Amino acid sequence: MLNPDNTFTATVLGLPRIGPNRELKRAIEAYWAGRIDAAALQGLAGGLRATQLLAVHAAGLDSVPVGTFSYYDQMLDTAVLLGALPERVHGIADDLDRYFAAARGTADIAPLEMTKWFDTNYHYLVPELSASTRFALHPDKPLAELEEALALGIPARPVIIGPVTFLKLAKSVDGSELLDRLPDLLPLYERLLGLLAAAGARWVQLDEPVLVTDLTDTELALVRSAYQRLASVAARPDLLVASYFGRLGAALPALADTGIEGLAVDLVSGGDADIAAARRLSGTLLVAGVVDGYNVWRTDPDRALTWPAALAAGGAPVAVSSSCSLLHVPYSLAAEPELEPRLRSWLAFGTEKIAEIRLLATVLHEGQDAVAEQLEIARTAVLDRRSDARLRDTAVRDRLAALDAAAERRAPAAERRRSQRERLDLPPLPTTTIGSYPQTGRIRLARAALRRGEIDRTEYDARMRAEIAEVIALQEEIGLDVLVHGEPERNDMVQYFAEQLEGFAATANGWVQSYGTRCVRPPILFGDVARPAAMTVDWITYAQSLTGKPVKGMLTGPVTILAWSYVRDDQPLAATARQLALAIRDETVDLEAAGTAIIQVDEPALRELLPLRRADQPEYLDWAVTAFRLATSGVADGTQIHTHLCYSEFGEIIGAIAGLDADVTSIEAARSHMEVLGDLNAAGFDLGVGPGVYDIHSPRVPGVREIEEALTRALKVVPAERLWVNPDCGLKTRGTAEVTESLRNLVAAAHALR
Ligand code: GLN
Ligand code: ZN
Repeated sequence: MLNPDNTFTATVLGLPRIGPNRELKRAIEAYWAGRIDAAALQGLAGGLRATQLLAVHAAGLDSVPVGTFSYYDQMLDTAVLLGALPERVHGIADDLDRYFAAARGTADIAPLEMTKWFDTNYHYLVPELSASTRFALHPDKPLAELEEALALGIPARPVIIGPVTFLKLAKSVDGSELLDRLPDLLPLYERLLGLLAAAGARWVQLDEPVLVTDLTDTELALVRSAYQRLASVAARPDLLVASYFGRLGAALPALADTGIEGLAVDLVSGGDADIAAARRLSGTLLVAGVVDGYNVWRTDPDRALTWPAALAAGGAPVAVSSSCSLLHVPYSLAAEPELEPRLRSWLAFGTEKIAEIRLLATVLHEGQDAVAEQLEIARTAVLDRRSDARLRDTAVRDRLAALDAAAERRAPAAERRRSQRERLDLPPLPTTTIGSYPQTGRIRLARAALRRGEIDRTEYDARMRAEIAEVIALQEEIGLDVLVHGEPERNDMVQYFAEQLEGFAATANGWVQSYGTRCVRPPILFGDVARPAAMTVDWITYAQSLTGKPVKGMLTGPVTILAWSYVRDDQPLAATARQLALAIRDETVDLEAAGTAIIQVDEPALRELLPLRRADQPEYLDWAVTAFRLATSGVADGTQIHTHLCYSEFGEIIGAIAGLDADVTSIEAARSHMEVLGDLNAAGFDLGVGPGVYDIHSPRVPGVREIEEALTRALKVVPAERLWVNPDCGLKTRGTAEVTESLRNLVAAAHALR
C-alpha cells in the first residue's frame, strides 16, 4: 500500500551511461586493449555516475534511477545478478573479465547472442537458461550503486529488470519452458528487495517491458501471482513496476490490486489506451511517461499534460516521467553548437528532457503560474516547428498525391524475368556480393583528413575512386558475375543518404549506445524529404566504366532509413516512408537512365520496425511493403531489382518478403543451414533468392567443399534458375585477404555445380 509520504513527482526510467563524450566507451576499449587497468576503468565509471546523479537531482528529479549504469548491457547485468552466466565462462576467475567474456567471447569462448531490445535500435545480450540453471543472487552491483548514490544525498531508486521480462527474453538452451523457472527466481528477488530496503532504498523499479507485448492468459496469471508474491515481502521498498515501448492492455488489470505501489505507463507510444484502466488503480503512484524517451522532439506541454491530468482525475497521485529510459537519446543539446538554431529550438535531448519533466511536474502540482515563462518558450517552439515551410514541401506532396496504386506495381515477375535474361545474359547460379568491401585503414584516413580539412573534396573523391577501381579489379580477377563498387564513400548506409536528402539534419555529437561500446549517431528526419540531386549515380557509373560485367547500383531502402533515424512525430510513419520511397525511386530512375541494369535496395531493418503487438503488425507490413514497392517500381521490366535482408528468421514477415516483389532477395542462411529456403517456399515465394552461403560475421575462410554443400542443400529446395550465390551480408568489417580467399572459394564452388 502506497505511503502518501513516499511519493515523488518527477523522474526518468533510466539514464544513458556511455558518457557525454563517450568517455565510458573509450575507457572500456582501453581496458580491453590492456592500456588501462580495472581500477582505472572503475574509477572513471564511478566519476561519470556521480556527476550524472548529482546533475539530474539538481535538475529537479525527486526520484533518481540508479543501477541503469552498465559496462555492457542491462540484461547481462541481470544474468550476473541472478547467477545465470553460461557455464563456459565460469572458469574465468576475474569478475570483470568473466563479464566481458560473456559479452564478447574470447579466443575459445563463444559470446552470448545479441538481439534487438524490443523494437528499438539497442541490442541486448541474450541470457542462456535451461531447466537446470542454478540461480544464485549476486547483489553486489545494485547494492554498491545504491550506496554510492545515497552517500551523495540522491533519492535513489534502484532499477532491476523484472523476473518475467528476464525469463521471457532469455533463450532456452534445452527447449524447456523458461517461465516455469519463475518459482525458482522469485525467492532471489524477494531477498534482493530485503537487501535494498536494508541499505536504504525507499523505492525499487522493476522493469517489465515485456508487459507491452502479447501475453497469453496463463502468462498474465503468472505475472499477477509473481507481483502478489513480491508485494507480500515484509520489509521491502515500495515497488514501481515499469512498462515501456507500448500499451499495457490486458497486463494492466493483471497488475491491479497485486499490492505494488507504483506503475509506470508509456503514454507516448501507448497513447490513451491505458488511461481509463490506470485511473481505476487505487493507492498506486502512476508514473506517467509523457516525455518521449525514444525520440528527440521537444514536448508539447499542453498535449503532454492532458495525460497526467486525466490520470490525476482518478484520485491517484501522479508523477511525470520519460516514456522509457533516456538510454535511447543523446545526452544534451549543449554538445550541438553547430545545429541550425531554428531546428535546435524544436529538440530536446536527455538533459533537456529532464528539464521538461521538471516543468510539467511543476505545472501539475503547483499550477502554471510558477513556470509561466518557461511554458511560453516551450509553446512558442512547438508552434514555430509547425509553421516551418520545410515541413511541407508541396512539390513532394503533389507528386505523391498524383501517384496511383499502379505506380507501385511492376509487370508480373515472369515477364520481367524474360526481359532481364535478355539484357543480362548471366550464367546459371550467378555469383555476387552484398555491397560493401573491407573499409580499409586507407579509407578511414581519407575520411578523417577530409573532416579535418587536410584534403579537399576533389582529392577525397579521387581516393575513393581509386578504392573503387581496386575493388572492381579484384572482383574481375576473382571471377564474380555481378559486381559492386564496394561502398567506400559511405560512412554509414543511412547517414550517407540522410546527408544528401532535404528534410534531414545531422548531429555532431548525438551518440547513442547501440550495443556494448558501439554507438550510433542517427540523423534527424525533421521535414519533408526531397532529393535535390542524384546521390549515387556518379560512383556507380564510374565503377561500371571500368568493367564489362554488370555493376549493381546500391541504395538503402525507405524503411531502413526510417528505422535508423530520429523521425518526425507530426505525421504517421507511413507518410514519411512514402516520401523516402519517392526519393529512392527517383534515384533508381536516374541509375537506370545512366545504364545501370541491376539495382539493389537494402532493407535490413524491415523486421526491426515490426510492431510488438500482433494486432498492429498487418498495418505496418502493409505500408512498409508499399513503400518498398513504390521505391522500386519506377524502372523498366528489364532492370533487375535486388534487395538484401540481414537475418534468416522471418517469422511474421515471411509473407511480406514475397510482397516486396524484388527480382532477387539475398538473405542470411549459412548459420541456419538453409532452412529458411523451405519457409520461403511454403509462403509461396518464387522469385530469385541468394541465401548466404557463408557467414561473414566470423573471420573464418569457408572451404570450396563447404560452400558446395551449402549450395547442394539449397538446390534441393530452390530450382537452379532462381538461385544466386553470395555471402551472408556486406564485407565491410572483414579484412581484404580473408575476403579474397573466401570469394575465390565461393566462385569455385558455383563453377563446380554449374
Ligand atoms: N549493402 C550493404 C553492405 O553490404 C548492406 C548492409 C547491411 O545488410 N546491413 O554493407
Ligand atoms: Zn546484411
